[in-house]
This record gives sequence, structure tokens and C-alpha cells, in this order.
Amino acid sequence: MLQGQCLCGGVKYKVNGEGSLMVHCHCTRCQRSGGAGHGTVIAVKPEDYEITQGEDLLNRYEEKGFTARVSCRKCGGSLYHGETFIEAGTLTADPGMRPTAHIMVAYMAPWATITDDLPQHAEFPPS
Ligand SMILES: [Zn+2]
Ligand SMILES: [Zn+2]
Repeated sequence: MLQGQCLCGGVKYKVNGEGSLMVHCHCTRCQRSGGAGHGTVIAVKPEDYEITQGEDLLNRYEEKGFTARVSCRKCGGSLYHGETFIEAGTLTADPGMRPTAHIMVAYMAPWATITDDLPQHAEFPPS
């Protein structure tokens, strides 16, 4: 089981299962929403994801052609996007898994560098 929360702690969630994939995503949407060079996300089954506190604080940002991004309206902290990629930075304990790749590196910030030996994919790798 995974557990996490937003920056202010108003929203808490749990995942009733394990993540299937953990990657560093360099797309511009992860850059903008997280305010960093890349986002690190864990893919989980949508039916496993459960908000345990602060459902009323959720802000859902929808943009045509993209998956919705969900954050806390009080602190602005990103929680997850799509169905369902949780932002690894929101976890409150070690998920036990580690990132296996960099994805969307075609969109990397010009000032960012990758300093590990993980595989790099220009876009989202075929599953
Ligand atoms: Zn919050
Ligand atoms: Zn991304």
C-alpha cells in the first residue's frame, strides 16, 4: 500500500495496491505543474486510488487533449494526473520501487541534465 499527502496535508490518499511503473517524466506539463525540471510519477490502477481526507479541497485542471491534473486548492500541491499517475513527491513513505526510466526527454528543459544511467525515451515508451 502507498500513502501520501499534499503540501499542506489537507488532502491525504492511499493506494490499495502496488505501483506498476515509476518513471521520471520530462514533459513540459510536469515541468509547469511541479515547478521543476521533471516530475517523478508512479502509475497505479485508478480503482486502487482512494482519497482518504480532503476530497473537497481537490482542484481538477482540465486541458483539451491532455489528461486532467489534480492538485490541492489550498496549497497548490500536485497530487496526480491522468488515470492514474501519482506524483512521487507526495508519498509519505518509501514506495519500495525505484524509477526505471526517463520519459518525454524530447521536451527536457534546456538547463536540465540527466546524471544517471537509466534508459531514456523521447516520448512515452511503448508498453
Ligand atoms: Zn494542500
Ligand atoms: Zn510529464
